[in-house]
Amino acid sequence: MKFASRIEKVPPYLFVEISRKIAAKREQGIDVISFGIGDPDIPTPDNVIEKLRETALDGPNHRYPETDGLPEFRQAVADWYQRRFGISVHPDKETLPLIGAKEGIGHAALCFIEPGDIALVPDPGYPVYSVGTWFTGGECHWMPLLGENGWMPDLDAIPDEVADRARVIWLNYPNNPTGAIAEAGYFEKVVEFAKEHDIAVMHDASYSEVAFDGYRPVSFLETPGAIDVGVEFHSLSKSYNMTGWRLGMAVGNEDIISALMVIKSNLDSGVPNAIQYMGMEAMELSQEAIDERNAIYERRRDRVVQTLQEIGLDAIPPKASLYVWTRIPEGFTSAEFTALLLDEADIVVTPGNGYGEYGEGYIRLSLTISDEDMEKGLAKLSEWRIPSKG
Ligand code: PLP
Repeated sequence: MKFASRIEKVPPYLFVEISRKIAAKREQGIDVISFGIGDPDIPTPDNVIEKLRETALDGPNHRYPETDGLPEFRQAVADWYQRRFGISVHPDKETLPLIGAKEGIGHAALCFIEPGDIALVPDPGYPVYSVGTWFTGGECHWMPLLGENGWMPDLDAIPDEVADRARVIWLNYPNNPTGAIAEAGYFEKVVEFAKEHDIAVMHDASYSEVAFDGYRPVSFLETPGAIDVGVEFHSLSKSYNMTGWRLGMAVGNEDIISALMVIKSNLDSGVPNAIQYMGMEAMELSQEAIDERNAIYERRRDRVVQTLQEIGLDAIPPKASLYVWTRIPEGFTSAEFTALLLDEADIVVTPGNGYGEYGEGYIRLSLTISDEDMEKGLAKLSEWRIPSKG
């Protein structure tokens, strides 16, 4: 048997490694507390589950869905965009349901990348942008995300010859893993850059509904001209605690949506109808309900940041996303520091270098852990002392 080189080239999915380590510790009877994966512990809202119960009984929903989804779902997405961002999109031409944002992000590469083409990819970044590029034979040009630039790529630092060969630029705000938000005016520069170099903009807005301190994340599509050059990916996973149900959507440029539809209709058969009905119910949730949920994460954010600061780390509270991204002391690599936390404090965090070279020197802690486990974990952390180096 001879596998394609893409199977061997790709590093193991970050969390596979982490899950293996946790399992090994737990087998030894150790109570490991994981701040690793961003997977909401808060359940899917009751009325959304009730909608599944109801629609699961309906015979037509037992059959193949359409790849472009139920017309009612597309309309619900357009209505949600209007309510949430004040943007009007055409439900049939400018929206497409996804089997989670991850599916759409992975498949989007097939719409643009030929062997040897370039994708502009943030580093650190969600790994699917680069893996999707490699799977299609493309190359990544890494755009460093640096604290001094507000964790936003410096578009002026991209050489013209690279920009001219690039087919897509990947962006993600609120950002995983850094927790950064897009600064006002940044997307205007992105639209200008994309037009100048004929690049498609893929904005991953999977964390658009998880924000703190009264901040409401913006949509890339609010920027004048954005819909001419790009699409935005949304996920109901984090927005409505629905990771297990696999639902998201792409919204934006009509030509990109049709290209994605060509890929998807040939490779998958869409989102089960009953799950789309759940999504419609979820998108109707009141802002008060979302704010209440975000207040839980905000409280956890404050506790995590406070404890990290107490042990001497330079943690800054993020305004959005589910993550606290913090620098580790000089002299440790992310992998060493993560291993120390697991070995000495029985705590799992994600090493920053798992998101790219520029994530080296950082760790990420997820807020999707029950209050009880979080307090247990933070108690272990407060007792832990960072070993001195040298
Ligand atoms: N985009 C980012 C930045 C993510 O962090 C994640 C999940 O962690 C996803 C997309 C995947 O979302 P979904 O669950 O909708 O596939």
